[in-house]
Amino acid sequence: MPFRSIDAAGDLRGKRALVRVDFNVPMQDGAVSDDTRLRSALPTIRALSVAGAKIVLLAHFDRPKGKRVDSMSLRPVVEPLSDLLEQPVAFANDCVGAEAARVVEGLEPGGVALLENLRFHAGEEQNDPAFAAELAKLGDLYVDDAFSAAHRAHASTEGIARLLPAYAGLAMARELEMLDAALGKPQRPVMAIVGGAKVSTKLDLLNNLVGRLDYLAIGGGMANTFRFAQGYDVGGSLCEKDMADTARAILEEAQARGCHVLLPDDVVVATEVKPGAQARTAHLSKPGDLRPEDKILDAGPNATAQIVDAMRESKTLIWNGPLGVFEVPPFDRATVEAAREAGALARSGALIAVAGGGDTVAALNHAGVADQFTFVSTAGGAFLEWMEGKTLPGVAALQA
Ligand code: ADP
Ligand code: MG
Repeated sequence: MPFRSIDAAGDLRGKRALVRVDFNVPMQDGAVSDDTRLRSALPTIRALSVAGAKIVLLAHFDRPKGKRVDSMSLRPVVEPLSDLLEQPVAFANDCVGAEAARVVEGLEPGGVALLENLRFHAGEEQNDPAFAAELAKLGDLYVDDAFSAAHRAHASTEGIARLLPAYAGLAMARELEMLDAALGKPQRPVMAIVGGAKVSTKLDLLNNLVGRLDYLAIGGGMANTFRFAQGYDVGGSLCEKDMADTARAILEEAQARGCHVLLPDDVVVATEVKPGAQARTAHLSKPGDLRPEDKILDAGPNATAQIVDAMRESKTLIWNGPLGVFEVPPFDRATVEAAREAGALARSGALIAVAGGGDTVAALNHAGVADQFTFVSTAGGAFLEWMEGKTLPGVAALQA
């Protein structure tokens, strides 16, 4: 999908750029405890600064629900951001009105200001046109660098983009390019790994993917539901029995569309989910091998090897959802092994490997391979909605 990028914005000297960023950072005792999201915004801020724009940062923090909540102020972001940028960052106590206007007016070309939490105003989440217009008054152009907020049609992600010339920032552009490389027009064969706990939370995603893939590896708790739907006994495992018809329909659709589905036959089971629990490998195809008290907590070695083989045959991999209960060793094995292989293939240039999802990112970090992947999206909900094939309002607004 073609979008407008800031390179196409022309001469920016002295222009006021309203830049939507994701500064919804982890905080502890009123201080930023992880600055990853601040760092993601630096390239765009620097590029605009070098071009001589006056940079006005728009962001939300937490869920103040439309009123001022002092503990949800963005002020604690100012100092770490200023340190990272190695330049002062002005702060306005409100994101609209006289105080915001005064701070923006005080900016020199190349200067940076951060405005207070957008969500202190109800108009933000309501996408109120009057609030969007108040924001738009502060800028000459709009730059969206917050893909993670793009699935919400809010005033700062959608409303404002109708009022000002709108561009994708560098982080947004990279995210869109990588997602397009993974699913838009991928190099084939293309494979997905979909894992996690439940089928019910990943239905739209599975339905969207199934027609686009050469290989679909299903893992985690949701694999139990698929195996149950095929008539296998899954013992005391997490299993959504009421989703059996849905699971069968997905498998039929996959077959009709030429998508090869990988489901584990050998599985790692234990009677309790505890670190170092007594675990053994069981085979679903062997009647009686699984006892009623057994819980399937990971894919077995053969299933993992199958996934790795399919990865080696693929040119593109998109991954959401761990293959097992990776938070509790030894049930992290399949996830870690598959992640390391994907990381190695990506590093060698043989595979474009893209991953996303809160727990998936944690799992790749646990395996120590997040930086080997071609791209790891930290966008959470927006990433999942994109995998579901939905139009993200904040992205549609940047369409060229
Ligand atoms: P993401 O956040 O990346 O989208 P999910 O939230 O869908 O991923 O899935 C992650 C969760 O799935 C983890 O908490 C993990 O423990 C759980 N899970 C994986 N395999 C199993 C299983 N066999 N049984 C129960 N839960 C599982
Ligand atoms: Mg999750």
